[in-house]
Amino acid sequence: MAKQRILVCPVCGETQQETSVCKSCDNSLDTDGLLYAEGSIGPWSIRDPKSPFLPGMTYDHLAELARRGEVELHTILRGPTTRQLWKVARRVPGIAHILGRCHSCGEHVAAQDRSCGACKTPFLTYRDRNNFGVDLTVPSEGKVEGMSSFLSDSSILDTQSTPLTLPPRQESENKNAEENTGSPPFHALQRKNKQDGRTIRILAVVLTICVVALGTTIYMLMNR
Ligand SMILES: [Zn+2]
Ligand SMILES: [Zn+2]
Repeated sequence: MAKQRILVCPVCGETQQETSVCKSCDNSLDTDGLLYAEGSIGPWSIRDPKSPFLPGMTYDHLAELARRGEVELHTILRGPTTRQLWKVARRVPGIAHILGRCHSCGEHVAAQDRSCGACKTPFLTYRDRNNFGVDLTVPSEGKVEGMSSFLSDSSILDTQSTPLTLPPRQESENKNAEENTGSPPFHALQRKNKQDGRTIRILAVVLTICVVALGTTIYMLMNR
């Protein structure tokens, strides 16, 4: 009698006699089936005590389950928008609107809406399979055990996050816009206007000084 080979299902980890379809998760275990299973692995999970060992799934896979009614308002989920913490589906950004609720205010919405009509919260999709939503930077490089665990300077700088920058000042933007539009004669006219403005200001100051001086003189004359 030939010895039965035992295999571990690569998808759910169930140990079983060699077979073409997993007895536990129903995944086809031939090359195509495994490629398909691998392709749907992602950072989203449904809490299901009946199959606790399945890997997470892609956003598109979860969204499809939501559209088919296999995820409901009270299903417990986790994913990048919950920072991998369990949350009820009607509160999960990216999924709740597919189930007809605004994740932010709970308003009834249509699955195809792009934002909430009541609170204006945008409804976004999250298709980055490698982003678990727990860190803004890429994982640091793997190191051989025993080497320093401190990051080199270049590793620290090697992040994909956008550095924080201050928005450009409105004033200088306007100035640039002014300087970048208009023909040379227009610029000459602008300069002339600026010069005229300066002249008027100088005249106003001189006039004010004269008025004050005149007032002082009159006051002194009257008090002699
Ligand atoms: Zn399996
Ligand atoms: Zn809302």
